[in-house]
Amino acid sequence: MIPFLDLERVNTPHLPRIQAAVSRVTASGWYVLGPEVQAFEAAFAQLVGTRHCVGVANGLDALTLVLMAWDFPSGSEVIVPANTYIASILSVSQAGLIPVLVEPDPRTMLLDPLRIEAAITPRTKAILPVHLYGRCCEMDAIRLIATNHNLRILEDAAQAHGAQYGTRRAGQLGDAAGWSFYPSKNLGALGDAGAITTDDDALADRLRALRNYGSTQRYVNTYVGRNSRLDEMQAAVLLEKLPFLESENDYRRAIARQYLTQIKHPDVLLPPADQIGQDAWHLFVIRHPRRDDLRNWLDQHGIGTDMHYPVPPHQQQAYSELNALSFPVSEQIHREVLSLPLNPAVTIAEADLICQVINAFM
Ligand SMILES: *Cc1c(COP(=O)(O)O)cnc(C)c1O
Repeated sequence: MIPFLDLERVNTPHLPRIQAAVSRVTASGWYVLGPEVQAFEAAFAQLVGTRHCVGVANGLDALTLVLMAWDFPSGSEVIVPANTYIASILSVSQAGLIPVLVEPDPRTMLLDPLRIEAAITPRTKAILPVHLYGRCCEMDAIRLIATNHNLRILEDAAQAHGAQYGTRRAGQLGDAAGWSFYPSKNLGALGDAGAITTDDDALADRLRALRNYGSTQRYVNTYVGRNSRLDEMQAAVLLEKLPFLESENDYRRAIARQYLTQIKHPDVLLPPADQIGQDAWHLFVIRHPRRDDLRNWLDQHGIGTDMHYPVPPHQQQAYSELNALSFPVSEQIHREVLSLPLNPAVTIAEADLICQVINAFM
């Protein structure tokens, strides 16, 4: 049996460091927003290449807090890809703003810059590109549109830890970026955790207040903030795992390369391979017109898979106001996508077997 993702197997190599982190925090007597959070923020900002990193409780809050901090008039619109994970869109709604969905490029499955301008109205205030599956969006084109229309850019980098865009990194390509360290992400905590990276000093200050009841000093509340603090235990675990992110991403790239070269099936559409060394390969997503049959076939051979994602956001009950809209590219993507096991615990031999089983599918 090859599981889609076994987090116990992913974390076992880090166990001695994790145990040391847990002991260190327990003995410190300081459990929320303390020295471990500060140290992690500094290390993560350095990796991303931004001046600031602000640790928060999870990825959804990271995105929501930035949109709240920007303080757009209510009813303002934010452009989001129609095929993203629901959290990207929820962040817009939770900040009191209106998500405007735009179809992805069918090849990359990322927000299509050619379709953005048609969605811009006088109420549009920001673009929220999602580096879905670990590949960076076409940020040069998106930046040009944002500049021309005076829009902010909030990157959803929750799947793109360590991804590159040319010589730059995901998380330093917009005005701010939201990160998740949910356990299954390329950099995963042992619970919920998130962060924002930005070069904007004023925004970073405001976010530090917003995550902690809007408080700029103890018992001085400047904003109507939230409780979205990062705890010391998760920050300490992340700090221990961070130095291994690059080598784990390289390992993901090696498995991805194996899939890309060894899967040879006429009906299987492979993900784009032109940025193999830049992509963080959070997920390896293939497409097949009979996705459910292929998934069953793999399951019969003991290979676990997943779908990212089975239902498009505009067809979810939560977004009933969008249910009547049609996004044919996204709908087809949601019908056809299948994610193969891709994480530091997948062995070369397992990936080899997975390729053989796919190639034998009829
Ligand atoms: C995981 C994820 C989020 C949300 O992160 P949480 O920490 O689970 O709140 C947002 N956007 C994308 C694209 C994600 O994959």
